[in-house]
Amino acid sequence: MASALSAPHFHNEEAAYAYVEARIWPEGPVCPHCGGVERIGKMGGKSTRIGTYKCYQCRKPFTVKIGTIFEASHVPLNVWLQAMYLIAGSKKGISSNQLHRTLGVTLKTAWFMSHRIREAMRSSDTGFFGEGGGTVEIDETFIGRLPGVPKAKRAFHHKMKVLALVDRATGRSRAMVIDGVNADTLMPIVLKNVASEARVMTDEHYGYRYIKHHFSYHGTTRHSVGQYVDPNDRTIHSNTIEGYFSIFKRGMRGVYQWCGEKHLHRYLAEFDFRYSNREANGVDDKARADLLLKGVVGKRLTYQRACV
Ligand SMILES: [Zn+2]
Repeated sequence: MASALSAPHFHNEEAAYAYVEARIWPEGPVCPHCGGVERIGKMGGKSTRIGTYKCYQCRKPFTVKIGTIFEASHVPLNVWLQAMYLIAGSKKGISSNQLHRTLGVTLKTAWFMSHRIREAMRSSDTGFFGEGGGTVEIDETFIGRLPGVPKAKRAFHHKMKVLALVDRATGRSRAMVIDGVNADTLMPIVLKNVASEARVMTDEHYGYRYIKHHFSYHGTTRHSVGQYVDPNDRTIHSNTIEGYFSIFKRGMRGVYQWCGEKHLHRYLAEFDFRYSNREANGVDDKARADLLLKGVVGKRLTYQRACV
C-alpha cells in the first residue's frame, strides 16, 4: 500500500498548487486585489513563478498564496502540505524540532510553519454550544507558569489559566486563555458561548454559583470529595471535559516542553481543532487535512505578529 504522503501534491510544487487552488477556489481563481473572477489568465513561460495568474480587470498578478498563511513564505507549497498533513494527523501534535528533522527545513522555519499552521486551525465558528438543549461541560485548568509571578505554595496565581467547554452532542471543544477564575471573568465567556437552553455541567467552583439562573439546567459534581459522577443521575458528570484536559496536558508535556502565555491560545486552537475533528467524530486524516487547508485563508501571520 502506498503511503499517504506519496501523493503528487506532497512532492511536486505544481501539483501542490493545483491541490490548494481546487480547495480554496472551488469555482475558479479569485483576484485577491479587486475580487474579480472574470478575465483571469494563467501566466506561463519559464520566467514566471509557479501558480501565477493575471487579473485583466485590475491588471495585477497573484497566486493562491496571497492572503493565506503561505504568503511571503519561501518554503515550497508541497512541503507546506506535508507539514499540514503530519500536524493534522498526529494524535498529540508535533514539535518544531521533529518537523525540522522530518521535513529538512531549518528549526526556525519549522517553528514559523507550526505557528502559522496553528493559526489555520483556529476555528472561525462562534456558534453556541448546547443548542437545542444539549449538554455542555465546563471546567478550568491551570498549566505552566506565568512570567514574573512568584510561585505560590498551594494556589494557582502563578499558573496560566484555561477555560474549556465541551459539547457532548457534537463532540466539539472550545478552549481559551483566561485572566482569572472568578464569576466576573467566567460568566461573560460562558454566556457568550453557550445557548440558554443548554444543560450545563460544572464542578462546585464558586465562580459558577450564578450559572443556574442562565441555563435550563445546572448539574454539579463535587470534585472536592472525589465525586465525578452523580450516583443518583449518571448523566451529571464532567468526564468528557476531564478527558479533554488529560489529552491536552499530555500533549503539552510530551511535545511542547515550554509554551509562553503569548502562544498558549494557538496551542489551544490546535488541540480544539484536533479534538473537534477527531476520528470518533467521523473525520479521517485526509478530511482533517482538507479542513485545515480551508482554514489557511485570511490567517496571514507575519514574523512580528507571531512574536508579540
Ligand atoms: Zn483584480
